[in-house]
Amino acid sequence: MGRLTQADLIDRNHVFEQRSPQELLQWAYDVFGTRVAAISAMQRSGSVICHMIHSLKLPIRVLFVDTGVMFPETLETRDRIAREYGLEIVTLRPEKTMEEQTRERGVLYLTPDGQQECCRLRKVEPLRKVSDQFDALIGSLRRADGGRRAECPILAVDPDNNALRVNPLANFSDAQLEDYIERHNVIVNPLHFQGYATIGCNRCTTPVLPHEPKRAGRWRHLGQWAQYCGINPTDADPAHQPSIELPDELIDRILGRESDFVI
Ligand code: SF4
Repeated sequence: MGRLTQADLIDRNHVFEQRSPQELLQWAYDVFGTRVAAISAMQRSGSVICHMIHSLKLPIRVLFVDTGVMFPETLETRDRIAREYGLEIVTLRPEKTMEEQTRERGVLYLTPDGQQECCRLRKVEPLRKVSDQFDALIGSLRRADGGRRAECPILAVDPDNNALRVNPLANFSDAQLEDYIERHNVIVNPLHFQGYATIGCNRCTTPVLPHEPKRAGRWRHLGQWAQYCGINPTDADPAHQPSIELPDELIDRILGRESDFVI
């Protein structure tokens, strides 16, 4: 096994800035095969990733974390995408229902610390439980979403899941995203047409006003506009220098070093 750090990915990330999202998805499948999955919360950019996987006819599974308190529109979007795009969507669930959790721990999401714990139990842990099945996870983070996403790299190490995160839409602008959705008539969560800029659990998501930042609708009751659930490693403290462990041969393929030995 070898160690892969974020610093190791600098050159590869530089080269990948010039690749289209479809090329990056194809690359991910070519390198990781059945050990790559996409993760989608059934928001607008996740729908675009699902549509691209469908268009490329890639047999990439999609992971969806159902916290048990999702909007019905989100679950309907998941079901439509699975049905109409022919994708295998794997729904991951927390160990306890929200009712059981509340009975045992109280209403966690009402305080900043409680929110972190609730998101850990209901979002982060369900993904971590299946993460040994994967070496790479495809996300749909975009720099255009601002906040901690503003610097999001295309490739990022994810130490919690010991996997490489691939964000094919990292440099996709809002205009490019909307253009893709329109041209391909992509299935979009209907809540986006009701003022929801981003969409998570029904307990912690509200619509946003036109002048507000996109993430103002998340955890609004906590009074900050910079809360994150912790499921995306690039949302973590940027000073943190994480690493993951993967087979040496896989690291060579990620870094494009396999041709070093070809004369
Ligand atoms: S978004 Fe809210 S309800 Fe959902 S897991 Fe996080 S704190 Fe809990």
